[in-house]
Amino acid sequence: MLRIGCHLSSSRGFLAMGKDAVKIGANTFQFFTRNPRGGKAKELDLKDLEAYVVFAKEHGIAQILAHAPYTLNACSKDEGLRNFAKETMADDLFRLSHLPESMYNFHPGSHVQQGLGVGVSYISGMLNEILTPETKTTVLLETMAGKGSEVGRSFDELRQILERVELSEKMGVCLDTCHVYDAGYDIVHELELVLKEFDEILGLERLKAIHLNDSKNPFASHKDRHEKIGQGSIGLEAMAAIINHPKLRQLPFFLETPNELPGYAEEIALLRSRYEEADEEP
Ligand code: FE
Ligand code: FE
Ligand code: ZN
Repeated sequence: MLRIGCHLSSSRGFLAMGKDAVKIGANTFQFFTRNPRGGKAKELDLKDLEAYVVFAKEHGIAQILAHAPYTLNACSKDEGLRNFAKETMADDLFRLSHLPESMYNFHPGSHVQQGLGVGVSYISGMLNEILTPETKTTVLLETMAGKGSEVGRSFDELRQILERVELSEKMGVCLDTCHVYDAGYDIVHELELVLKEFDEILGLERLKAIHLNDSKNPFASHKDRHEKIGQGSIGLEAMAAIINHPKLRQLPFFLETPNELPGYAEEIALLRSRYEEADEEP
């Protein structure tokens, strides 16, 4: 069965997101842990969480993906901003300990003229401070398009971070199709080769989730503007190949396309219609 969902607004709480997910035919979803521009998270509403967990079980919603505010920069030049990223992420992970089998995705950051090496050491240093043997949530680094001085524009940059993280068994990678295509990985014509490279550099067992987005810009543009499925430079056929690929088809897929709920429902239905059910699956 295709595991697919989209990014949902968390402003009305977890139960509301669960209900929205069911309404649009999703069996997972992504949400921001707090206002994407940063700031304080709302008080944890344990009643809402409990109700959500029951609802999710009843409706087969599994392994939701929390997304850190994209404004956090773990490798900022400014120590105060680095500490803010660390404290926010530590608090997010604490909150997520209430949600069984959730995952947490973040953008590695931008090194802004400090150089890749400095960026990598700040990011891995932060992870070494916030991950503990008790951390239950799998923390994912997102593949980035490489605009400006973004860290994570190549599989090798992500490997450099991961190999410096002591509890790296807690870590995985979220592959964003728009980002990798914009970064110069040709998932349209050379999917097999891209996955081979991912496997050689990072190990495919590290790949835990896929952000399924088309791109408004051409290959290797380093832009990062998401487009609706089938309406961008990646196209529907490449998306269908990705969700059906033997090494990817069991992963959870998350749409972050420019849509409201009805648009997401359409994309989910479209992708489900292109998913080839296999009988050997559990
Ligand atoms: Fe992201
Ligand atoms: Fe993404
Ligand atoms: Zn993006």
